[in-house]
Amino acid sequence: MRELLLSRIIDVPDYPKPGVTFKDITPLLADATAFGALTEAFAGLCERVQADKVVGLEARGFILGAPVAVRAGRGFVPVRKAGKLPGATLAQAYELEYGTAEVEIHADALKPGDRVLVIDDVLATGGTAEAALQLIRRSGAQVAGVGMLMELGFLPGRRRLEAALQGAPLEVL
Ligand code: 5GP
Repeated sequence: MRELLLSRIIDVPDYPKPGVTFKDITPLLADATAFGALTEAFAGLCERVQADKVVGLEARGFILGAPVAVRAGRGFVPVRKAGKLPGATLAQAYELEYGTAEVEIHADALKPGDRVLVIDDVLATGGTAEAALQLIRRSGAQVAGVGMLMELGFLPGRRRLEAALQGAPLEVL
């Protein structure tokens, strides 16, 4: 399954800027067998970690996470870039290579005690996922685990995210 998924991800050189190689997952999304296998794998993870909710990270985490939530019979909660959610939010800033970014969650989207599975496509520095875990904990909910399609192994994202997970599982397909 891993080979099928990875074969549907394309390296795009010099995107979004010179020197960066972007992992394009759109061919995987266009392949019903691969997208279905990915959804089944994450839905299985959702069962194993006994998550109550699936949190997807903008924007590709929405595409991957929403069908997982439906397949597993759980609700879906978006973590969005700042300024996009209409209701009262909790916000979390995090550092980028140059400058900072901010993500938000609706303040009432998670209930205290909820167990949450976080889904995203690519683990790079781990900053986005770490900020999402902080939002989940600040909501009073528990981090049940994180599921990623792939990681950029040359970046120290795994170490950073594992520290933030505090023992909860990280599954990279
Ligand atoms: P991090 O916060 O771990 O540095 O970056 C991860 C976030 O940036 C994820 O939300 C992911 O979607 C996006 N990202 C970073 N690099 C890539 C890439 O090469 N391909 C894709 N598809 N997403 C990326």
